[in-house]
Amino acid sequence: MASAMLAPGDAIGILGGGQLGRMIALAAARLGFRCHVYAPEPESPAFDVAARHTVAAYDNELALRQFAASVACVTFEFENVPAATLETLAARAPVRPGAKALSICQDRVLEKRLARELGARTADFATVDSLAELKLRIGQIGAPAILKTRRFGYDGKGQAVLRRQEDAERAWDSVKGASSIIESFVPFEREISVVAARALDGAVKTFAVTENEHREQILRRSVAPAAIHPSTAREALAIAARLGAALDYVGVFAVEFFVGAEGGSEMLYVNEIAPRVHNSGHWTLDGADTSQFEQHVRAIAGLPLGSTAMRGMGVEMVNLIGADVLRWPDILAEPGAQLHLYGKGEARPGRKMGHVTRILRD
Ligand code: AMP
Repeated sequence: MASAMLAPGDAIGILGGGQLGRMIALAAARLGFRCHVYAPEPESPAFDVAARHTVAAYDNELALRQFAASVACVTFEFENVPAATLETLAARAPVRPGAKALSICQDRVLEKRLARELGARTADFATVDSLAELKLRIGQIGAPAILKTRRFGYDGKGQAVLRRQEDAERAWDSVKGASSIIESFVPFEREISVVAARALDGAVKTFAVTENEHREQILRRSVAPAAIHPSTAREALAIAARLGAALDYVGVFAVEFFVGAEGGSEMLYVNEIAPRVHNSGHWTLDGADTSQFEQHVRAIAGLPLGSTAMRGMGVEMVNLIGADVLRWPDILAEPGAQLHLYGKGEARPGRKMGHVTRILRD
C-alpha cells in the first residue's frame, strides 16, 4: 500500500489537544511530519508543539472540513470522538484508527462482547437501561458489582459500586439514567495493560506488559515488566493482538486487564480497550527502543513499526498529579530520572501535569 504511506513533510491531523496529542505531535515532528492539532480549548497543551492549530468545537462542520483538507491523515488522542465528527473527517482524509475500532471501543458492552467472542475472559456483565433492569441484573450477577455508563466514562467517572442489592437506587441515580453496564466485581490481585500497535499491513508489535497502580481511580504509577507469570504475559499479548486484528486497527491501542488468582493460577480478565496511546505506555518514551507515540505515528503514517525492546531491566513511570508537579526541581536533580511536563497552567487537584520515568539498570 505505497500510496497509503506518508512521507516526511506531510501533515498529520490530531483531534484533541491534551498531553497525549502533545506527545504524538512531538514524536511526529522528530520524524519530519508537521502536525495540525484541532481542539476546542484555546489553552491546549498540544498547541505549543504543533506547526498549526485550530480552536473549534467538535461539531463545527466547516472547521472540521478545513482541518481534514489540510492534512494527509487524521488521528485522535481521545476515544469519545462523536460519530458525526468522524464521518465528516473520514469523507475527506484517512482516519486512523477507523470508525469500526472507535465505535466498539466507545462502548463497554461492545468491547466486552468482542473480547469474549475472541475467547478472552471478562467480568460477568449485562446491559442496564432502567432501575427495574438493574434490580433484576444485580439479582442475577450478585453483589458486589459495579455499574458503569456504557459510554463516556474515564478515570472512574460515571461509575458506582453496589455493595449489596439495596444499593441499586443510589447507583442508578449516580449514572443519571444513562445506558449502562453492570459488571461483577473481579477480586483482582493486580491491574495490567498491554500497549500494542497494529500497522496498515496488519503487523502487530506489543510493548512489555505493564503493571498499573491507581489512586482515587487515577493512574498513579506503572511498572514494566509486570510481575506476572511468563505464560500470563504471553496470553495478554496474544489477546491484544487478536483484538487489534478484529478491530481492523491501525495505530496504538491499550488493553487493560485484571489479573485474578484462582486455585493458585493467574486468570486474565479484559476490562477495557483504549483506542489511543495510553498513560500506562508513557514509560516507553525513555524505556523502549521506540516510544508508543512514535509507534503510533509510524502506524498511522503507513511506515514500518519500530522495535519495542525494553531498555534496562525494568522501568517505572510515576504520574505527577496536581501539586506533585511542584517537585520538579528535585526530579531534575535526581540522576537517571527523566522528567516530562505537559505545559499545563494551574496544578489543580487530580490534573495530570507531567510524569517521570526511571529505568532500572540492574
Ligand atoms: P475502568 O474505568 O473500567 O477502568 O474502572 C476504573 C477502576 O475501577 C479500575 O481500574 C478498577 O480498579 C476498578 N474496577 C472497574 N471495574 C471493575 C470490576 N469489574 N471489578 C473490580 N474492580 C473494577
